[in-house]
Amino acid sequence: MYDVAVIGAGIVGLSIARELARYNVRALVIEKCSDVANGTTKANSAIVHAGYDAKPGSLMARFNAKGNPMFDKICEELDVPFKRTGSLVLAFCQEDMDTLQKLYERGIKNGIPGMELLTREKLKSMEANISSEAFGALYAKTAGIVGTWELAVAMAENAVENSVELYLDCEVESMEKQGDAYTVNCKNEKCFRARFVVNSAGVYADKINEMVASPSFKINPRRGQYFVMDKSSGGMVKNVVFQCPSKMGKGVVVVPTVGGNLLVGPDAEDIEDRGDTSTTSKGLEYIRSMGGKSCPNLSYESVITTFSGLRAESDTGDFIIEESSQSKGFINVAGIKSPGLSSAPAIAEYVIDLLRKAGCCLEEKDDFNPIRKQLRFSELNESEQRELIKHDPRYGRVICRCENITEGEIVDAIKRSVGARTVDGVKKRCRPGMGRCQGGFCGPRVQEILARELGKDMSEIVKDGKESYILSGSTKE
Ligand SMILES: Cc1cc2nc3c(=O)[nH]c(=O)nc-3n(C[C@H](O)[C@H](O)[C@H](O)COP(=O)(O)OP(=O)(O)OC[C@H]3O[C@@H](n4cnc5c(N)ncnc54)[C@H](O)[C@@H]3O)c2cc1C
Repeated sequence: MYDVAVIGAGIVGLSIARELARYNVRALVIEKCSDVANGTTKANSAIVHAGYDAKPGSLMARFNAKGNPMFDKICEELDVPFKRTGSLVLAFCQEDMDTLQKLYERGIKNGIPGMELLTREKLKSMEANISSEAFGALYAKTAGIVGTWELAVAMAENAVENSVELYLDCEVESMEKQGDAYTVNCKNEKCFRARFVVNSAGVYADKINEMVASPSFKINPRRGQYFVMDKSSGGMVKNVVFQCPSKMGKGVVVVPTVGGNLLVGPDAEDIEDRGDTSTTSKGLEYIRSMGGKSCPNLSYESVITTFSGLRAESDTGDFIIEESSQSKGFINVAGIKSPGLSSAPAIAEYVIDLLRKAGCCLEEKDDFNPIRKQLRFSELNESEQRELIKHDPRYGRVICRCENITEGEIVDAIKRSVGARTVDGVKKRCRPGMGRCQGGFCGPRVQEILARELGKDMSEIVKDGKESYILSGSTKE
């Protein structure tokens, strides 16, 4: 019998899992995909928002304001790339200037430090590539960018190393309450018993809720698409550059990434299919025109890929984080749209409070270890690199030329406590395939290393989820 079952291994479920790892409880995370962070956590702008945008008094405002300052410590403990870049919201007309004033006042109400309304001259002195049509901006010093995948993987590893269990490829399909515990049944016939259940299933959270209660909220997927540009465009902006928000969201953003690339997007489109992360020429064309409004010099020749992610829009308009009134011990953490990433650490702490209030006994462990490390070869100095290669020659073999990733790092990504089992899993953990060639050169080599280290045949190695086979058969015997 488990004390707590967390459904969903996105940034929210994993932040909760890591928080649970601090206590003497038996906890597990159940995830339907073959890897952690394969839902919305895989595809977003990776911005740690300052927190001026959400309506004062909302859960989004509260957890964004509390979550943002938590990132420095968490990312240091977990060895995850994080940078406080600052952000700008641009104004292109007087109406936009009024919006900036309102955002500034909201920010004050939300308790956000380090905001400033900038003149055109000040803006130009900070960002040379911003359109000269912009005649002012709201600057927020505390905004930042983070390696979202790295953070999610690191949270998972740290939770597992502190004895939380993780079950991948387990899709929850039904639940019953028997006595004081839930039986959670998965499609693969695995079944878990837990006294408390946390529902952090992203765009599927309403479906999970309806396994134990009558419908009380609905989640609608709202898709957002992006261009990813290579490092030649990475220096286009130093800050995260927004336009004025609308009721569909924060608008098209130009965002530097922690890996040195540039993201341009997203759009916002309500769709029916909760699994549809395709991109469309219409959506990308819109982003292109809006991106050009902020930075006219953006070069779309440097686009290396496109992607889309699904926001979990709830019909309440806010995060839903509460014990179900219909099912005791069942905690919904639903409707976690943007700024969900920025809020995740604060949400996790709050969920611990909710569990405690619901009767879960949470005693702190003496031996919780918050530290998790990852070796990145290119961050070592020359003598450290030489020493490492002497000790392990696999660090002397570069597999991904675009990102300069060695065989040693790939093997490490596979062998870690929540190791990669797919080509995209390796990419998520140490970046081969993130560069200009998008895995054209290193993909088959990564596949070979996965097969060797996992003791599988090359043909069994998948790109991402189940059945995403890369090889379909041999051309020669
Ligand atoms: C376009 C876009 C841009 C965004 N930009 C930002 C940003 O810059 N900053 C920010 O703070 N936030 C941003 N967000 C929001 C942020 O990405 C999300 O709030 C966050 O990733 C949500 O995490 P999650 O864990 O709730 O959901 P997910 O990452 O979707 O995780 C839910 C998990 O549950 C699993 N699951 C579902 N059903 C089942 C089942 N039946 N059984 C088992 N497992 C199941 C899924 O496979 C998934 O892994 C953005 C979102 C989008 C879409």
